[in-house]
Amino acid sequence: MSEKTEAAANAARPLDSTDTAIGFHPLIRVRDLVKNYVSGEETLYILRGINFDVEQGSTVAISGQSGSGKSTFLNIIGALDRFDSGSVEAAGTNISGLSESGLSSYRQRSIGFIFQFHYLLKDFTAVENVMLPAYMTGMRKKDAIEKAKILLCDMKLDDRLDHFPSQLSGGERQRVAVARAMVNDPDIILADEPTGNLDPKNSAMVAELLYAGAEKWSKTLIVVTHDEKVACRAKIRYVLENGLLGPAQISSFGGIN
Ligand code: ADP
Ligand code: MG
Repeated sequence: MSEKTEAAANAARPLDSTDTAIGFHPLIRVRDLVKNYVSGEETLYILRGINFDVEQGSTVAISGQSGSGKSTFLNIIGALDRFDSGSVEAAGTNISGLSESGLSSYRQRSIGFIFQFHYLLKDFTAVENVMLPAYMTGMRKKDAIEKAKILLCDMKLDDRLDHFPSQLSGGERQRVAVARAMVNDPDIILADEPTGNLDPKNSAMVAELLYAGAEKWSKTLIVVTHDEKVACRAKIRYVLENGLLGPAQISSFGGIN
């Protein structure tokens, strides 16, 4: 078993009392997570009892076939989606019992999202797009702008600060979206196919800057991706299959089975 596969297998096992004894406190702890969709007569069993632990500061990649439930899983951790049974604790919050306003403040405080599509506001510049979430949650305007500039420089967009989304390339827009996800200093960054719309060169650049940004700012990063080059940069890798997470098997040609 390779080192990465073994690490994933260890992380996939349920915790027992010895974990507490050695002081293992995951930042994200998911237990027996079940999610079904009922449509008409039919029930779709999407997540079938997932157990998942992520240490603070770790980077995790999740692959799996289209329709396997990757977005659903990420959205549940980010409290964008409800689940049927099990528990989800993240960043010190047990989200199972939260009201809508509790979920909203958990999202605001603890989660930064990056999606396949950037969702930047078209009438705002790169700096404005990044500073807005911080400014709207109470940071002084000057400080929010300063923070946005630092993050955009991390994303190598020093010379694009005042560009509007229409004046940026696809890769640049995604890098703005990465900066925006970090501006409120969330514990967890959730990225759902962040390079799905990009060519290989831009994909590699966005991925590298995303991982580097997460490391620099001590973020815990979960990336859902089809792209082997994006996934292989993560410390721990899983495949979501038949409603369960398993360790990714790295094949001899470098692809993922
Ligand atoms: P992935 O991100 O791995 O492609 P998703 O999490 O988006 O998969 O979807 C998993 C499955 O759940 C798919 O079969 C999808 O059609 C189904 N699904 C997703 N959202 C809904 C919904 N709101 N109602 C019914 N089925 C849904
Ligand atoms: Mg998806």
